[in-house]
Amino acid sequence: MHRHKKLLITIVVVVTLLIAGAMIWFAKRDANAPAQTTTAKRGPIAALIDFVTHPFGQSNTPKPPAFDKTQYSLDDPASLWVVVNKQRSLPSGYIPASLRQPNIAVRSSGSSEMLVRDDAASALESLVAAAKQDGISLMLVSGYRSYGLQEQVYGGNVSREGQASADKTSARPGHSEHQTGIAMDLGDPNGVCQLETCFGETTAGKWLAAHAHEYGFIIRYQNGKEGIVGYTYEPWHLRYVGPALATELYKSGQTMEEFFGLPAAPSY
Ligand SMILES: [Zn+2]
Repeated sequence: MHRHKKLLITIVVVVTLLIAGAMIWFAKRDANAPAQTTTAKRGPIAALIDFVTHPFGQSNTPKPPAFDKTQYSLDDPASLWVVVNKQRSLPSGYIPASLRQPNIAVRSSGSSEMLVRDDAASALESLVAAAKQDGISLMLVSGYRSYGLQEQVYGGNVSREGQASADKTSARPGHSEHQTGIAMDLGDPNGVCQLETCFGETTAGKWLAAHAHEYGFIIRYQNGKEGIVGYTYEPWHLRYVGPALATELYKSGQTMEEFFGLPAAPSY
């Protein structure tokens, strides 16, 4: 009995010494650690708990907050992040507020198709000015298209080339992003590769692919994403979503559908 008691006391003393030693070690480590800006200075107890719960070096230091995918509606036609595709339509009567012609080169001044929603128009002016700094000229080819105008465009394409072909390149009325007022087609003022795939190979097309996100725009119909977005590659078609989302999409290489977990929309 006496020997057991002695052993127990020895164990208690050793364990106490170990804990005390660990606390002193963590306290010293904390004191030596460079000042952290992201976390308040933690005491030795917190550090010990940290060590016990994350023995392999992870810490409880909070990570930068994940991108909040719920900041804007994906359904409201006026939302910065509204997703319009062959599965998601706009009401026929939807007309964006505060449309204006941006102060940049336009294909047909005074036409309603040269209008862009005010927030996107301001961003577009910044983008075009930045391109100009790099020696690249851009022109607005097509901005806002009303439901009625899209009826004409799509109807014309159907009668020329048939519905199957028309559906590959133009949207049915109510399914065009151009009706939001925050989608637009850009081009070279001299018309080089205008609304043609080869625009992506021009210096202007390459500049847009590399820099559009800095001004809040995405190339909405990327090469190889036809099965998701429903359209073949359109290096000229930009969509304004704001710099935060545009940068996320640029970095991830994802479409809006992929990023938000929406169903692919290859067809109607
Ligand atoms: Zn377009």
